[in-house]
Amino acid sequence: MNIIDLRSDTVTQPTKAMRDVMAIAPVGDDVYGEDPTVRRLEERMAEILGKEAGLFIASGTMGNLVALLAHAGRGEEIILGDCSHNFLYEGGGSSALGGIHPHILPNQDDGTLDLERIRLALRNPDDSHAPRTRVIVLENTHNRCGGIALTADYCNQVAALAEERGLILHLDGARLFNAAVGLGCPVTDLSEPFDSVTVCLSKGLGAPVGSVLCGSRDFIREAHRMRKLVGGGMRQVGILAAGGLYALDHHLDRLVEDHENAAVLARGIDEIDGLSCPQAQPPATGAWTNLVYFAVDGAAIGRPQFNAIELSKQLKSRGVLAHALASDGKEIRMVTHLDVSSSDIETALTKLRSCLSGT
Ligand SMILES: *Cc1c(COP(=O)(O)O)cnc(C)c1O
Repeated sequence: MNIIDLRSDTVTQPTKAMRDVMAIAPVGDDVYGEDPTVRRLEERMAEILGKEAGLFIASGTMGNLVALLAHAGRGEEIILGDCSHNFLYEGGGSSALGGIHPHILPNQDDGTLDLERIRLALRNPDDSHAPRTRVIVLENTHNRCGGIALTADYCNQVAALAEERGLILHLDGARLFNAAVGLGCPVTDLSEPFDSVTVCLSKGLGAPVGSVLCGSRDFIREAHRMRKLVGGGMRQVGILAAGGLYALDHHLDRLVEDHENAAVLARGIDEIDGLSCPQAQPPATGAWTNLVYFAVDGAAIGRPQFNAIELSKQLKSRGVLAHALASDGKEIRMVTHLDVSSSDIETALTKLRSCLSGT
């Protein structure tokens, strides 16, 4: 059976052409700064994002960790959303390893943090009772908020506040290129407001491994120390960086196809009795991208036991993989990517209809 894997955009297989360039990539010992392919990737990503320097990192999680360790010290505070990947899914790393204190604000439906709430959350640096606020963290696209793209206008407003109060602004841009494509704006409009930015190569871009952290030369020097500290110094890693370079050359322009597929999927899902997908409608601000979240309501079709977990099991037996969110048994996520075609989307919708109608 041909499996259609919609669990995540991390499941992509490197293409033959990508593997070919990886196999012949010139390499060196990157801990000594001697891997020419890694250097090319770091310089290239920094240039694309309009930053002075870049650092190749094993994962997005490690990229955010290293950035926060470089930006903040023990007892210092980071402001971030309660639905952010960094808060929910990264093992509490900055707190576990850096003693950094998370200050959580509610994410609004569009993935943003309310500016006034941020303002109220900022600590008085002269108050010895309070931790010191150091960093504000945003996420774009916002994974748990439907893969929504945050606008440059919003990011600039947060940047102005950060600047006014002498704070650092970090972006978890795991899917930043999806955001730029979704909004139809240059990626630099979305990276420019931030002091540091992480971008994943292993998601929509389809490379097997890695993220790049970008920022000022001084910041990257410090991040380089922190990468070593967490055991992330790698040796002939140009083999992996070559996959990232290939992805930047060949897989950026096609992201629009993933977004079109996701839109077709969202609209199709919303038409099925027992399923609802808010992403079938355009968002009030920002843009949907390649993630589709939808809710299962078994009671609405007279099958109260039928929930997200049951649906994902039935889909699996029909060759379609989806990610049921363990947290509520209601929601399911499907993600479009390089290895999913428009006809796969039609097939997935057919299978969804058959699960819901019980045929
Ligand atoms: C996937 C993801 C990360 C972490 O990336 P890994 O490479 O899986 O560690 C960080 N932030 C967001 C928003 C993500 O979706």
